[in-house]
Amino acid sequence: MTYEFVRRPSEDLHGPHPPRLALLRALAAVDVALWDLKAKRAGLPLAKLLGAYRDSVRTYNTSGGFLHAPIEEVKARASQSLADGIGGIKIKVGQPDMKEDLRRLAAVREHLGDDVPLMVDANQQWDRASALRFGRAVEDLGLVWIEEPLDAYDAEGHAQLAAALDTPIATGEMLSSVAEHVRLIEARAADIIQPDAPRVGGITPFLRLATLADHAGLQLAPHFAMEIHLHLAAAYPREPWVEHFEWLNPLFEERLETRDGRMIVPDRPGLGFTLSEQCRKWTVDSVEFGRA
Ligand SMILES: [Mg+2]
Repeated sequence: MTYEFVRRPSEDLHGPHPPRLALLRALAAVDVALWDLKAKRAGLPLAKLLGAYRDSVRTYNTSGGFLHAPIEEVKARASQSLADGIGGIKIKVGQPDMKEDLRRLAAVREHLGDDVPLMVDANQQWDRASALRFGRAVEDLGLVWIEEPLDAYDAEGHAQLAAALDTPIATGEMLSSVAEHVRLIEARAADIIQPDAPRVGGITPFLRLATLADHAGLQLAPHFAMEIHLHLAAAYPREPWVEHFEWLNPLFEERLETRDGRMIVPDRPGLGFTLSEQCRKWTVDSVEFGRA
């Protein structure tokens, strides 16, 4: 079996200890490949190998709600997502003027009606006072969660916010180890934890922290990489969410199916993906090990 390493032009190494993060990404690629291989050898989708609780996972779309998108475009894309079988809509917040966030959010809620699950993502843009002010202003909108209201490492601030608001708090996508997630879990910093398997070093560490999160009673909504996280979310005991992001589509031949608000776990062995011709053109190096 050949696994290929693709250079991503936008590859970032920001955050603490860039060399460690680069090494972690490399280890994660091998870890994910080994889990894929293990499931293929068992003849099972990875979710089933891990003991899946479900054959599909609630899914929501992020990519239609960026800060710079005009509100009419956000609404049109949200409608399209729902028509495509995606269940929830997430929009970005953190405009220079918070009133603009509130206007956009109210417009989207009015457009979608009260029954469509709606989330917001602030990408760490607020200080504690601003986050609390925003959270109080939107309590009546019935948001599924407020994501990354504060600096990713401010566990104490997230915990205060989670305690002060009815709306659930979600965070964790930027963290790059099980230990950092443990700090978050122990501080009761979030109602919903959002680990990113490639960022924490692969599926193996993801499973360790998912066990801890379940033990703490947290919900799970992994960040990005739906091709991996769909399987991991399907094997999480509590009903999770998976983030729909089509950005990695060019890498693969197959497409994930969304229907009735859920993403369907493919019944193909392993992760269920083969690399596309385009991906092979982008390949800069490859290593071969094992056989499926
Ligand atoms: Mg996010």
